[in-house]
Amino acid sequence: MKKTTGMNREITRTWRPATQAIRGGTWRSEHGETSEALFLTSGYTYDDAATVAARFAGDDPGMTYSRLQNPTVAMLEERIALMEGAEACRAQASGMAAMTAALLCQLSAGDHCVAARAAFGSCRWLVDHLLPRFGIETTVIDSADDAAWEAAIRPNTKVFFFETPANPTLDIVDIAHVCALARSHGIVSVVDNAFCSAALQRPLEFGADVIAYSATKLMDGQGRVLAGAVCGTSDFINEKLLPFQRNTGPNLAPFNAWVVLKGLETLSLRAHRQSENALKLGQFMEGRVPVMLHPGLASHPRHELAMRQMDACGPIFSLVVDGGRAQAHALLDALELIDISNNIGDSRSLMCHPASTTHAAMGEEARAEMGVSEGMLRINVGLEDIDDLIEDMDRALTAAGM
Ligand SMILES: *Cc1c(COP(=O)(O)O)cnc(C)c1O
Repeated sequence: MKKTTGMNREITRTWRPATQAIRGGTWRSEHGETSEALFLTSGYTYDDAATVAARFAGDDPGMTYSRLQNPTVAMLEERIALMEGAEACRAQASGMAAMTAALLCQLSAGDHCVAARAAFGSCRWLVDHLLPRFGIETTVIDSADDAAWEAAIRPNTKVFFFETPANPTLDIVDIAHVCALARSHGIVSVVDNAFCSAALQRPLEFGADVIAYSATKLMDGQGRVLAGAVCGTSDFINEKLLPFQRNTGPNLAPFNAWVVLKGLETLSLRAHRQSENALKLGQFMEGRVPVMLHPGLASHPRHELAMRQMDACGPIFSLVVDGGRAQAHALLDALELIDISNNIGDSRSLMCHPASTTHAAMGEEARAEMGVSEGMLRINVGLEDIDDLIEDMDRALTAAGM
């Protein structure tokens, strides 16, 4: 295996994210294959005993076991790091494996974590149920309230954890403000960038320390595999994340890594076209539904901040209908083109009712606290012709009495 022939790392590191998404991290075997090779292997063999001893001692950079390294997974890791502008990245089996590893690798009993209250259901479960079981204190706050972050800091606060835009309320966190506050107190900021990916938002440029990802969403983007990633400094990845990952094993399978590599080739195109479609569909729906939660529309309370942090509005927005669950379900049932599905980031348009799906398990009280009402619907806008999407939504809104 060698890096692409003639590649000069001084030059390749300067490529912009859209180029990195197609080229970054490519290794080619002696066959010079165009597309990345898929190494479905759990182990490796060695020419002699001294070589394997040197590898286990860390004196030889070769691979030893796929829980530690795999060539296909390594290509994905380098590519994501280059797109994100991070020193290092480690792929994970899923987005939730990434979140769990990013938090547990650095928190210990007696530490305190401040987290956004508006979050993906399983992220809230980590904060509300998992961390406290191991003696880690947690506080959840309104992440769009800048002052609330500072007020929540305690002497033992070690981590800030948030996503922006948040799922499914589309709350926008001021990344630069919150991450600067974290740094000034020696707190590590962990940002879940699933809603945007590096194609639309690069939190490290705004001072974030660690990026944790669901690559299942925009990065695969075609609804095929679960995948995740954690990015950060080499020190963080090598000293905190790797010991945790190597010994607990939330590794990404080489096949899934290969699928995500293929997804990344079209990520920038998809993310921007899906954002364009989401903006047009949002503009069409505004005024027709009582509440739009859409970072691309001027009606969003943090529209300007969102557009400063993001290159485009992203494919996902939410809305709230007046008639509660019955009217929300009626709208879903009237759709012909847009699928009822709880996935996001997919090239297909998908719509779901968070209160009865992604945020059902957390219970009514937690939903009310984070603003997930019975009338809320979340939509992922895909790559279909925008006129077909608008016609489908128009018909469904009429059928649901809007
Ligand atoms: C989907 C999602 C996750 C979890 O990712 P999986 O790949 O499904 O495990 C975490 N955070 C956010 C914001 C998500 O949308």
